[in-house]
Amino acid sequence: MKLVFASGNPGKIREANEILCGRFDVVAAAEAGVTEDIPETGATIEENSLQKALYLYEHTGLDCFADDTGLEVEALNGAPGVHTARYGNPSGKDFNANIDRLLREMEGIENHRARFHTCVTLILGGERHFFEGIMEGQIATERHGNGGFGYDPVFLPDGCDGLSAAELTPEAKNAISHRGKALRALAAYLLAL
Ligand code: IMP
Repeated sequence: MKLVFASGNPGKIREANEILCGRFDVVAAAEAGVTEDIPETGATIEENSLQKALYLYEHTGLDCFADDTGLEVEALNGAPGVHTARYGNPSGKDFNANIDRLLREMEGIENHRARFHTCVTLILGGERHFFEGIMEGQIATERHGNGGFGYDPVFLPDGCDGLSAAELTPEAKNAISHRGKALRALAAYLLAL
């Protein structure tokens, strides 16, 4: 069965196909004819994942899903949250500028607790289903490691001996990551149908 994913990122498409054990054919939005940027104007990551999934469904009529992720820092009252991708540079997705701003905002703050939070919305036969995944950890005071992407160099996941997410192997990170957990929850639901 074909499932359209509201993403054009080949890494995400491959990861979703692996987690779904080849039982579903996950394809990029562009393959289903949606080549424009899918709007994400919601006030929360839940709203954004629903908005993106509904957009795909309305434009293709196919079963589909969308994800949205936010970094929620306790001492910053949940920021950057829905603004995670553009925190340091509103005009673009600049990972370095995002980290620079986060480190600046954390200066002088003692509580470094934070979590990555992914929401996935599935639209199957026109019905909506929601899944989520959380990775808990701490914000580091400086960058560590060269792997991963985004905020990984300054995110120290719990249970990883103080290593940053950018110092983990891709397999080790996927096993504990917010997106891995949300996609596995989606897979558990679909594979049990
Ligand atoms: P998206 O919803 O997957 O596009 O994620 C939004 C933003 O969150 C990205 O642009 C990254 O900055 C950040 N992000 C999402 N997942 C991760 C991760 O696993 N590690 C580090 N940063 C992430």
